[in-house]
Amino acid sequence: MADTKVEQMSVSVAKGPSMMTGAIPTKEWMDVPAVFKPGNYCYPGKPEMAAYLSKGLPGKFGESREWKPEDDDWKLPENWKEIIIQGIKERLDKFRSFKIFMDCCVRCGACADKCHFFLGTGDPKNMPVLRAELLRSVYRNEFTKAGKILGRLAGGREMTFGVLKEWFMYFYQCTECRRCSVFCPYGIDTAEITMMGRELLHLVGVNTNWILEPASNSNRTGNHMGLQPHTFKDNIGYLCDDIEEITGIRVEPTFNRKGAEILFITPSADVFAEPGIYTAMGYLLLFHHLGLDYTWSTYASEGGNFGLFTNNELMKKLNAKMYAEAKRLGVKWILGGECGHMWRVIHQYMDTMNGPADFLEVPKSPITGTVFDNAASTKMVHISEFTADLIKNGKLKLDPSRNNHRKITFHDSCNPARAMGLLEEPRYVIKNVANNFYEMPENTIREQTFCCGSGTGLNTGEIMDLRMRAGLPRANAVKHVHDKYGVNMLSCVCAIDRATLLALMQYWNPDVEVCGVSELVGNALIMEGEKERETGLRFEPLEGMEG
Ligand code: SF4
Ligand code: SF4
Repeated sequence: MADTKVEQMSVSVAKGPSMMTGAIPTKEWMDVPAVFKPGNYCYPGKPEMAAYLSKGLPGKFGESREWKPEDDDWKLPENWKEIIIQGIKERLDKFRSFKIFMDCCVRCGACADKCHFFLGTGDPKNMPVLRAELLRSVYRNEFTKAGKILGRLAGGREMTFGVLKEWFMYFYQCTECRRCSVFCPYGIDTAEITMMGRELLHLVGVNTNWILEPASNSNRTGNHMGLQPHTFKDNIGYLCDDIEEITGIRVEPTFNRKGAEILFITPSADVFAEPGIYTAMGYLLLFHHLGLDYTWSTYASEGGNFGLFTNNELMKKLNAKMYAEAKRLGVKWILGGECGHMWRVIHQYMDTMNGPADFLEVPKSPITGTVFDNAASTKMVHISEFTADLIKNGKLKLDPSRNNHRKITFHDSCNPARAMGLLEEPRYVIKNVANNFYEMPENTIREQTFCCGSGTGLNTGEIMDLRMRAGLPRANAVKHVHDKYGVNMLSCVCAIDRATLLALMQYWNPDVEVCGVSELVGNALIMEGEKERETGLRFEPLEGMEG
């Protein structure tokens, strides 16, 4: 929980504009230094994490060492400036979008108040336009004629240790949510600038542990928790035990089964942590209900791609594991669970990194016969698309009244919404498995959805105050439907959201719980031969249901 009391923070958000400076800055932005203090930065990566990742990707994670953001000496390599400038050059040559984004901002300010970090902290450097300027100013100085000749007059500045500090602070106060890009008349995607900023920081060994450790674990054991195959399997077994207790039905999933028709991959948090485990119980019930020929994998046991938060190379490597496993098992196609960044990577980057996955078949639902042409290249279908198609074709036996004790709203997770356009399917599913659904205000949902405030590896305890501030716009919209309609359940299709929104709700809206959409499906499914249900999937009583 955040250190600051909720009443205090509410006042501070309105009156004390900056977490860093404590006041509205009176100097030019280039003259305001980044000052690190407990609560405004994530802990640096453990040296062994960078060392491990460097073995597979030499040079991409810098020199491993102990360092502290609050120190004046970050123990950077002697030639760190050259590494950064060379890193910018290589990325300008490699990524056309990066070059365009460096050149085409007209500083109109349309994005300025669209970022939840700016709204929550009041810090001008959290305006997307200014966040991008942190890097763009160095680009101008080094790579444009005007910047080389006129320097600061043309908005250019040298790469200094002070600039590096700003990058570390503000590229880790951006959740790469892309809300700002929706409002930019030029389509500038500040998330991609942040991604470049983080890549450059990694080159000189400036990193955070909450990203490096899960990324290392994903590479080493297949999931971000670093759990071994038998533990992964056992945990799903425990969920099957719970399902049996609730429904009387024994679900028997298979693991690493060669020749299965479908490989199912979901974020490992769905298998290990509340409330994700109830979402996983929903998947298990659904697949049993259908008699689906599918398998889990203990090798590709993580849908979430923590490489996305570091650099392109690691993102590609972790994404490739899923496809390597699909090939090894000889499945026809992949079904993906409720995840955010897994889908961003699949939808936006997989095809050019590791695709097209031509060794797989274009996904076809074995139950409805629907061919998912939208997945013709990636061969991977989202569980909400799959479920919506089943409902539309009348293939599920459902009792929506089992969710009557829930008044539900839906949080469009940034990646499924803005990076893959998955807007209708989850809503369609919810409306068919539950009777009480209420939308949050329209400028806070769908493409304009507000981020949970802790995505892209910021879901760490040491910056809890910052996270509660950044999540305030989302929490505020939930409060609106809570006060107006009595909403008590915030549903979503992202595992990081299920973790981050939980903390956010406990802080700002303690009466509101968090769930995955598939949990609601699992509650409503009428299983053949089941006993009368007395509880929902989280063992909450269904008595006193209100319609
Ligand atoms: S909206 Fe686009 S063009 Fe305008 S300031 Fe922001 S990034 Fe630049
Ligand atoms: S991508 Fe999201 S977090 Fe980053 S600057 Fe834009 S609105 Fe803010």
